[in-house]
Amino acid sequence: MAVSRDRESDLCVVGLGPAGRALAHRALCAGLSVTAIDPRPDRLWPPTYSCWLDELPAWLPATAIATTIPAPTIWTTVRRRIDRPYCVLSKHGLRDALPVDGAVVVEGRAAQLTAHQVTLTDGRVFDATAVLDTRGLPGPGRRRAASAHGVFVDEGNAAPMIAGNEGLLLDWRPENGAGPTEPPSFLYAVPIGDGTVIFEETSLGLRGGMPQHELRKRLLTRLTAHGIQLTGTEPCEAAHYPLDQPPPPKGGAGPIAFGSRGGAMHPCTGYSVADSLALVDTAVGALQRGRDPIIDMWSLPARAVYWMRMRGLYGLGRLTTEQSAAMFDAFFASSPRGQRALLSARDDYAGLGAVLFDTVAHTWPFRWRYDLVGWTNRNRWLNYEIDPATTSEPRP
Ligand SMILES: Cc1cc2nc3c(=O)[nH]c(=O)nc-3n(C[C@H](O)[C@H](O)[C@H](O)COP(=O)(O)OP(=O)(O)OC[C@H]3O[C@@H](n4cnc5c(N)ncnc54)[C@H](O)[C@@H]3O)c2cc1C
Repeated sequence: MAVSRDRESDLCVVGLGPAGRALAHRALCAGLSVTAIDPRPDRLWPPTYSCWLDELPAWLPATAIATTIPAPTIWTTVRRRIDRPYCVLSKHGLRDALPVDGAVVVEGRAAQLTAHQVTLTDGRVFDATAVLDTRGLPGPGRRRAASAHGVFVDEGNAAPMIAGNEGLLLDWRPENGAGPTEPPSFLYAVPIGDGTVIFEETSLGLRGGMPQHELRKRLLTRLTAHGIQLTGTEPCEAAHYPLDQPPPPKGGAGPIAFGSRGGAMHPCTGYSVADSLALVDTAVGALQRGRDPIIDMWSLPARAVYWMRMRGLYGLGRLTTEQSAAMFDAFFASSPRGQRALLSARDDYAGLGAVLFDTVAHTWPFRWRYDLVGWTNRNRWLNYEIDPATTSEPRP
């Protein structure tokens, strides 16, 4: 196939997920010329994205938000309301808030990326002053993963658990049928603004993640315990991705990794969208000044925070259900600063160090602290085999 050489632009953004689209959009706003490449550039992103409201950058219009939950609930061994608004983003609203009019939008799949050039699988080549790699993450393999099975339930049917603008961010009540010697999972349930509530059974930190059939079985058991019966026709969503994508080294000779591919994936929550949105202007500003954006985005404090969050991920991945509830109990008793240091702040290493120490120090009974820091049961679930799917799986 003849190789055609397309015109040079300031930026070539490879991958139009939320991170790439936000980057292309803000670069265009800043007056840069942009080529944006994706196999399906106009696709509506399949997942339902959420975040804490205060994490979103001021430039993002309110139309990107579908629902706001003023004080979400956490269930550990007790019920707590968190006095911090949380929001579910609108699929259409978020995409429409990030227009890329003015960019050269290319439908295609990148095969090779260098610092200044992208070659597509069909042979087309695009040159740019900077190439931004926003292709997201590959499947987790045996990496530490986030896995979730979500079911969209009509608000009326969901009412026994979620009514109005309530939201359940973490529900560790032992109601999913998993025994104490099985890897843990929790429930996440929020109204998404279209008359449905998503109920999502979620596992964080297991190597290779948890299979969908196991998560679904647990979810149905949990919902049944609250009198919620499904018809089996409800739409579903699935998540299965790695949590341990490190920040890129500074001064790399290749393309610049950004978004989940560039270390924005939070190792303990599995969230990256708000962080990517918040970081685009830092990246664009650095590129405009001819600086390496990795240096501006990944300061030493930010790298220290990432390192500590990874310790949190290792801890999460070895606990039982009871231990997880006890640990989150200790964590959510900490100060708002401590909670933000783990959940949101990118560079509050002192706050994060303090809250991690405090969480371990307040987890009860005492001996569980050894598991938390990995002195005992370090690889508790490493070779755990989840039963394969059977045809007698409980149906809704
Ligand atoms: C069900 C589910 C629920 C989730 N919920 C949340 C949430 O509530 N909050 C949150 O923050 N995160 C959530 N996540 C995590 C979420 O996936 C990531 O945070 C987010 O999608 C990462 O955005 P990204 O733009 O970095 O990468 P992606 O969204 O993965 O986008 C990558 C883009 O690159 C394109 N691409 C891939 N390969 C190539 C190639 N070779 N050439 C060109 N283009 C390519 C893809 O088509 C895609 O458009 C959820 C994930 C799932 C699956």
